[in-house]
This record gives sequence, C-alpha cells and structure tokens, in this order.
Amino acid sequence: MHNKPLSKIADDLVTKRVSSVELTQYYLDRVAQHQHLNAFITVDPEFSLAQAREADRRIQQGDVATLTGVPIAHKDIFCTKGMLTTCGSRILSNFVSPYDATVIDRLNQNGAVILGKTNMDEFAMGSSNETSYYGAVKNPWDHATVPGGSSGGSAAAVAARIAPAATGTDTGGSIRQPAAFCGITGFKPSYGQVSRYGMIAFASSLDQGGPITRSAADAALLLNVIAGFDARDSTSVQQPTPDFAAGLDGDIQGLRIGLPAQFFGEGLDNSVERVVRAALGEYEKLGATLIDIDLPNSALCVPCYYVLAPSEASSNLARYDGVRYGHRASDYGDLIDMYMKTRAEGFGGEVRRRIMIGTYALSAGYYDAYYLKAQQLRRLIAQDFEQAFEKCDVIMGPTTPTTAFAIGAKSDDPIAMYLNDIYTISVNLAGLPGISIPAGWDDAGKPVGLQIIGQYFDDAHVLNVAHRLQTATDWHQRAPVGAE
Ligand code: GLN
Repeated sequence: MHNKPLSKIADDLVTKRVSSVELTQYYLDRVAQHQHLNAFITVDPEFSLAQAREADRRIQQGDVATLTGVPIAHKDIFCTKGMLTTCGSRILSNFVSPYDATVIDRLNQNGAVILGKTNMDEFAMGSSNETSYYGAVKNPWDHATVPGGSSGGSAAAVAARIAPAATGTDTGGSIRQPAAFCGITGFKPSYGQVSRYGMIAFASSLDQGGPITRSAADAALLLNVIAGFDARDSTSVQQPTPDFAAGLDGDIQGLRIGLPAQFFGEGLDNSVERVVRAALGEYEKLGATLIDIDLPNSALCVPCYYVLAPSEASSNLARYDGVRYGHRASDYGDLIDMYMKTRAEGFGGEVRRRIMIGTYALSAGYYDAYYLKAQQLRRLIAQDFEQAFEKCDVIMGPTTPTTAFAIGAKSDDPIAMYLNDIYTISVNLAGLPGISIPAGWDDAGKPVGLQIIGQYFDDAHVLNVAHRLQTATDWHQRAPVGAE
C-alpha cells in the first residue's frame, strides 16, 4: 500500500478498492508507529478522518478531482484553519490560523486530506531540523543522522512512507536538501509559481512552496493542484499553468546538460561526486550530452544569501510581539519589557541570531555596505545563470556537498551549517526551478541527491527531465530499512 505512486492511490480511491477513511487510518497508524522519528508536530486524527469522510462522500457522488481522498502531510509553515500552525517555534506554539494558506485551500477544494503538520526548523531557518522548538527529526535511513532542513519532517515522513506525499518550502534549499538527505524527490518551483499566501514568511523574495514526494511524477500531480496565479499573493505570476503531469514523458534526446565547474570543486565529498557522475552517465545513455559551464559568482552566493535572508527575516518576524497572537511572556513590566521578554522567550537561538544580523545589515550607515551590495551580487548571480543557459538546457550537479551528517555535528558551528546549501542557494537567489532526485548511495549507504536546475518558469521541463531518469532507474523506489 505505502509504496504506490500517487496516481495509483488516487485510482484505488476512485475505483473504490479502498476508501479515504481506510487509507487515512492506515497512514495515521503508520504515523503513530513511527513517532520515534519526530516527523510530525501536530496530528489530529478526528480532523483528518472528518476530511476523509467528506472525500468518500464526494467519491460516492462522482465528484472526483486528482487527489480526492489522498492524505498529504504539510510543513507546519502553511496556515491551516482549525489545526495548529507553529512554524517550529515556541512563539507560535498556541497559534491556530483563522484561514487556510492558498496551497492548503487548493488541496482542500481538490478533496485531499490533511494527514498532519510536519516538524521543521524554527521559521524555516536551518539545514538539519535541529532548530525546531519541537526537537530534532531523525533521518529514516540512519537514526543518528539529520534528515536535513528546514523541511526535515516532511522529508522524513515521505522517506519512511508514513505520508504518501508532503509539502515543503524552500528559501535556500529547504525542499531539495532534505530530499537529498532522505533519498526522495523535492521540487522547488520557479519563484511566483506557487502562492505564498498563508505560508509563514521567512525571506519573502526567496520563499517558495513545493512538493516533497517519492518521484517526479508524484511531484507533478501535487504541483498541478497547488500551482497557479493567486490574486492574494502579489508576487504570484499571472501565467497559464501547464499540465505538469502531461509533460513528463517528453523526449530528452539531445538534451544539453550544463555541469558548473563550481559544483564539482573543493568541498565536494568524493563518494557523492562518484554517485552524481554515475547518474549523469545514465543521462548520457538516454541521449543527453554533458557540457562544462561556469557560474563564476557561485562562491558569493552563501554570503549574499546570509545578508538578504536575515534582512528580510528581521522585518518579517517583527510581527511576533505577543500582542495579537502567539506566545506572550507572563511576567513583565511595561510594554517594551513585554516585547523583549516575549521575543527572548519565544524565539530560539538561530532565529535570534538572524534577526540581529538582519537588523544590523538594514540599519542606517550599513544598509549600503551590506544590503545594497548583496542585492547587486544577487543580480550578478542571476546573470551567471542567464549566460549559462545560452549553452545548455538544464544544469545539473550534486544537491549537497555531503550526505546526511550526524545529529549534533554542526549545531554549534553556524558557518559549517550554512555551507550545506552551497549548491542550492543560488537557485533561490535567481528565482529558478530546481529539483533534487535520488541518484544512489554513498560508501556509507546514505542517499545522494542529484540537483536539476531549469530556466525561469521551465518547471514542466525540469520535471520531465527528472522523470525520464526515474523511468530508467529505480533509485527513487528504494526505501529505508523498516519502511519497505
Ligand atoms: N538552510 C538555509 C537557511 O538556514 C535555507 C533554509 C530554507 O530554505 N528555508 O536559511
């Protein structure tokens, strides 16, 4: 049951081989059996089963859409009406949103079931899920290692087959990096493809929601429901949405794959490189050609991101003041004291660090030196991609320089943690679509991710290229021990 693709699950529901209530109960049981992974922050069986009953009623009446009755897990950054939305933070530990995020709303209208809300780094700041107020998540492939972050709970849930599919968000790699660490597929759409309405903001010019699934085909089905223009998000792009599932089988004969020298240089683990090169060899067998390209400003993407993202975060997180919603300190003097104690108690260390960096970078006198410079750098990084795409159709490389590291290994060293996203961050800075797909295993048996980057709004093509590899190989079908 739990190894079926989404299309097969949907088919079983429509043909009444299984009801949504049975299916939802099956996954709720799996969630309960895998509590040790700590993948979920909130599970509300009554809520999920009520949605499942409604889906079954729709199916009875023949009112069926793509994902009617399919349980989907959501990163706890998407606002859900009637179910807790914490964003992995103490400051929102009691927050129940009065409205649904557009992503949730579209899935609800489609008839999908909310399986629960998944664990994540606090306010999506992190690469290991260790900054969550709700504790670290374990990687299903090796419980001593991190699942990646910030969408670590969603990735662990899909990898352990305790959710058929999930949502995540990616500001600098948070869909792709955990997908790589957990041996699954994670797709960050082009900026503006998926509405950010009701998706709690971290760095608004970089944040993008997307699917975390076992395959590119599953990602396409989920994207078909959640993508598209939304008048409630001013950065949502008003462009017709293609049928992502219909485009999966396109021929890739003659595809030009660009390999940036900077993605294969110093810092890349040898066994990760070996696995990635072998996967690229599979693409050659499928008729693609490999071309060496340059992204000369790659080394600057991490410093650029760590000025821009904290700057936007310091502004976005100013709203958590204990007045309107969320945690409020119980013991305080005047208003300023209330703000200070509330925010000191409510935010964890990494979030406080970013608020301080961002506030500093945006302050008078430093704005030009840091924020403005970083914006200029961002333009150069985007131009690097534009020039590269004159020579190739897609860009490929490793998603991460190493495979999953041990829990605790980098939590005291922010720079080492930040360097995890060295191959993913530039994609957000340029607003491009990027996917991580399983490419095999390193010498220690840990999953390796292959990243495929496309041109702006070429999302359907990226999914097509990913799918072609998944029809020729079975890396994406292998599950960790205990989840087969
Ligand atoms: N790891 C990066 C960070 O800590 C990216 C996080 C994300 O994509 N949300 O900011």
